[in-house]
Amino acid sequence: METLSVPHARPLPNGFLDRLSARFGLQCQTSEAILAQHGASESQYPTVLPDAVVFARSTQDVVDCVNLCRKAGVAIVPFGAGTSLEGHTLPLEGGVSLDLTPMDAVLAVNHADFDCTVQPGIRREALNAHLRDSGLFFPIDPGANASIGGMASTRASGTNAVRYGTMREAVLGLEVVTPQGKVIRTGKRAKKSAAGYDLTRLYIGSEGTLGVITGITLRLHPVPEAIMAATCPFETLSGAIETVVQAFHCGVPMARIELLDAMQVHAVNLRSKLGLPEAPTLFFEFHGTPNGVAEQVETVKGLASANGGGAFQWATLAEDRNRLWRARHESYYAAVNLRPGAIGLTTDVCVPMSRLAECILATRADLDGCSVPATILGHVGDGNFHLVFSIDPNAPHEMAEVEAVNHRMVARALAMDGTCTGEHGVGIGKQQCLIDELGEDAVDVMRSLKQVLDPGNIFNPGKIFRS
Ligand SMILES: Cc1cc2nc3c(=O)[nH]c(=O)nc-3n(C[C@H](O)[C@H](O)[C@H](O)COP(=O)(O)OP(=O)(O)OC[C@H]3O[C@@H](n4cnc5c(N)ncnc54)[C@H](O)[C@@H]3O)c2cc1C
Repeated sequence: METLSVPHARPLPNGFLDRLSARFGLQCQTSEAILAQHGASESQYPTVLPDAVVFARSTQDVVDCVNLCRKAGVAIVPFGAGTSLEGHTLPLEGGVSLDLTPMDAVLAVNHADFDCTVQPGIRREALNAHLRDSGLFFPIDPGANASIGGMASTRASGTNAVRYGTMREAVLGLEVVTPQGKVIRTGKRAKKSAAGYDLTRLYIGSEGTLGVITGITLRLHPVPEAIMAATCPFETLSGAIETVVQAFHCGVPMARIELLDAMQVHAVNLRSKLGLPEAPTLFFEFHGTPNGVAEQVETVKGLASANGGGAFQWATLAEDRNRLWRARHESYYAAVNLRPGAIGLTTDVCVPMSRLAECILATRADLDGCSVPATILGHVGDGNFHLVFSIDPNAPHEMAEVEAVNHRMVARALAMDGTCTGEHGVGIGKQQCLIDELGEDAVDVMRSLKQVLDPGNIFNPGKIFRS
């Protein structure tokens, strides 16, 4: 993690804002409140204001905005829901924040093929509300109610990824506006394709640095016949993690398996009034046929009990399940708010399952020596876990201490053949970690791709790597 360097706004050419306003009218905004909303971040980064915000209503709006910006050499930062955590949407060189939220239509749902095509601004909850009566659902669920375009651009995942995969698996094809203002499609609706370079996956996770995603074709899944969710407290963190590892070795196809350490459970109890025992806890969800789910539950209960697990608390009704998962999704805010007036910093790593226990336990020991309160939680079924720090903004030594812990956690994960981020992405905060993970030569390949595709460096400059 690095400290944000002083942003270098590119000077706007004379008359640029007039040309933008002439084309976009009220869709182009420069009011202080709207600039501030688009220049702020969910995490610890200071606000950096864009010069203007353009609200795109169509692919043609995006094309026109890109063409105006390219000709003027002005930066464009695509903006979805603004929930990313590594300063992704901060306009480090000023310019236009291109807000895609008005492009929120579901363009097609193909029930027979389990897919749909949407515009980028639709939020994941709205998509599932749209699908409610179809018997299908879209499983990827970052804790925030993010936009599908933003999720594709950060290669997001969430609690369901252990069973249903991440945005890498969920996206069949994209419509993208390139820096040259061309509209391309990267794939169709076929389940698999060997047609040339995989452009879809080049744009997924590219954090708005290569193009603007204006359409997304997604895989959907049938709503399972039976769903059961439960929580189970453990005597120790290692007992909880061992249960997860053993469940995988037994081939239990769990849909969700989430770990919260004791301090995180305390925070969740305070915020969401769940009344859970304040111990390391697993949140489970099982999907399948009634018999299949019953079998999965029996296996996991046996493993939990052998590893110091306590009584399972079941959430059988849909509203109880929703309450449980809403509390899990709000864990970040629960942890940050452990201290009134605190600011949050969250970070994530992901390691091979065989190293997960070692990595989490060493990190917890490190946190125990840190003066800043921090929780551990994660999508442990993927080997992915997060730290959430609750930092006093008036105590600068706390940020330095947190940065050191984060640095050590990333180094530990890399030494275990893991990655510096399982899902939050690189943005501003993990640029050195990316080099530590893949090496300068690999990052140079990324730089070369960026240079070829976006020679004017207009798309989200300063993110993922420094040019
Ligand atoms: C409480 C909380 C919990 C979270 N939990 C998770 C989690 O479990 N898993 C997870 O993966 N993440 C999680 N996140 C992070 C965040 O929700 C994800 O990174 C999400 O994918 C960001 O989507 P967004 O719509 O908010 O994108 P934004 O923040 O608006 O943008 C993210 C990046 O994508 C680019 N972008 C946005 N839209 C487009 C587009 N149409 N075309 C091209 N580029 C675009 C932006 O320029 C930026 O670089 C969490 C965040 C919060 C606040």
